Amino acid sequence: MSAKRIIVAIDGPAGAGKSTLAKRVAEKLGYIYVNSGAMYRAVALWALRLGVALNDMHRLEQLAREAKIRLSLSDGRIFLNDEDVTEAIRDRAVSDAASKVSAVPGVRRALVKLQRQIAEENSIVMDGRDIGSVVFPGAQVKIFLDADPKERARRRALELRGQGEDADVHVVAGELQKRDDRDRKRTEAPLVQAPDAELVDTTALTPEEVEETVLRIIRAKTSDGKAATGQGG
Ligand code: C5P
Repeated sequence: MSAKRIIVAIDGPAGAGKSTLAKRVAEKLGYIYVNSGAMYRAVALWALRLGVALNDMHRLEQLAREAKIRLSLSDGRIFLNDEDVTEAIRDRAVSDAASKVSAVPGVRRALVKLQRQIAEENSIVMDGRDIGSVVFPGAQVKIFLDADPKERARRRALELRGQGEDADVHVVAGELQKRDDRDRKRTEAPLVQAPDAELVDTTALTPEEVEETVLRIIRAKTSDGKAATGQGG
């Protein structure tokens, strides 16, 4: 119980490889992986289903406060009001809606609270847009993961095709750019590299190489050097 909790914050634009990396690193370290984007997606999904206008800040905040969002810490599945929405939130319409919903300050307040609660009890790897800059400014490790926009679009198109979607890489590139612009330009917690975050460009790296690079950074940043071997504490 005296073991120090470690927080690894991974931020960056869509398609940079954050969730792949965060999952792998969490597994290696024996930490819990938390996908904060899934929470914004869950609120967006609920808003779409209820037909709530995506500029109705008051209603959206209300939804974010009332939503029962649960992440299964063992397998990463996400539940909205007790329904497993793990697949439903990956829909492209939900991606777009999530980036609108996430600009609402009240929505962010509700979800950041939830994100901090999870970290009270566990060492975690959390990915998102504002994890190192806003949610956990004191995180021991902050990574900003980026990649060339073309490469990010290629990866996302591949992922969508894997889900059985007919994804044209140019269309996907346009969608990513719109979403990134929105995430970067919003006033509340915009996507930004925290001054003390390490930039990792994944354009030319394999997932294995990204993992190795980041584990090296984690080892260097955590005081006893054991955290990155899963024996921390
Ligand atoms: O990470 P993912 O692409 O699934 O996130 C979906 C959307 O949720 C992002 O485009 C962004 O608008 C929002 N988001 C956010 N802050 C986070 C995580 C996600 O604003 N920490």
